[in-house]
Amino acid sequence: MEVQAETELQSFSSRYHNEQDCMEALIAMKWPNGFVCPRCAHTRCSRLTSRRIPLFECARCAHQTSALVGTIFERTHLPLTKWFQALELFLLPDGISAMRLSQVIQVTYKTAWLMLHRIRHAIGEFDARELLCGDVKVNSDLYGRNPARPQFPHPYASAVVAGCTVTESGEPERVKIHLVPQVRGDGNGANRLELAVFIHEQVDVRASEVQSFPQTYRLYRPLKKVVSEAWTSLKRTYIALGTKHLQAYLNEYTVRRRLRRPGVEESMWQKLLYMGVAIPAIPYRRLIARQPVQPLAAAS
Ligand SMILES: [Zn+2]
Repeated sequence: MEVQAETELQSFSSRYHNEQDCMEALIAMKWPNGFVCPRCAHTRCSRLTSRRIPLFECARCAHQTSALVGTIFERTHLPLTKWFQALELFLLPDGISAMRLSQVIQVTYKTAWLMLHRIRHAIGEFDARELLCGDVKVNSDLYGRNPARPQFPHPYASAVVAGCTVTESGEPERVKIHLVPQVRGDGNGANRLELAVFIHEQVDVRASEVQSFPQTYRLYRPLKKVVSEAWTSLKRTYIALGTKHLQAYLNEYTVRRRLRRPGVEESMWQKLLYMGVAIPAIPYRRLIARQPVQPLAAAS
């Protein structure tokens, strides 16, 4: 892990040497066609560079803003170089734990934990905006099933609905794995109603051909494999995941899987940075107030 992290960081450090490089990358990502005032949409501004974070003052309404407003970096006290390192390490094949991140970029565990959750929140929100579309398969599966002992689900096993789009060669392309509100470890998969809710909320049904697999013994196998890989990957990096944030970790897995797919024109790093700039930081209070997924009857 140590060697891997350092290798990745070398590729990072060749691109972003210092705070200014990071800031310029953020400004270019936020305003790719030049400054736009968030209040009046005017495009001329003056740049005030006397502070640590450059401010842009609108030439029409005098509103002052920075490239960090409305992003996961807003109000951060950390150097942007540490944030960029965290983003880079987040893209490792199995991600990175808060403990490991705190050691690599030299911040406290709590700070590392919060950074990773801010990134997770951003990619989860971003991914939620895009429905599955096209040839779509939907499984009622169990996250945490040990393939060698399927009759004995792990105590943390959770019923999930997994959906994916399928490439022409039959491979799962975009994947979403959603926890189903049930008692953990009871071994039951999602029922037909819960599959229907998933399809209603996550699939653009007017532009898709949807095939659903409600019986756990007869699932769409390529998608079942992805759910199994998610369990293996998350288990490798995180020792134990409670229900409170498990959905965020599942989103992390599926979005990372999508970003790391070969053949994407735009680099995965640029896409991740774009998500971090497009989605405001989740407030700390909202993050810790998250509730475990509740049964449908209790939640309504
Ligand atoms: Zn303005």
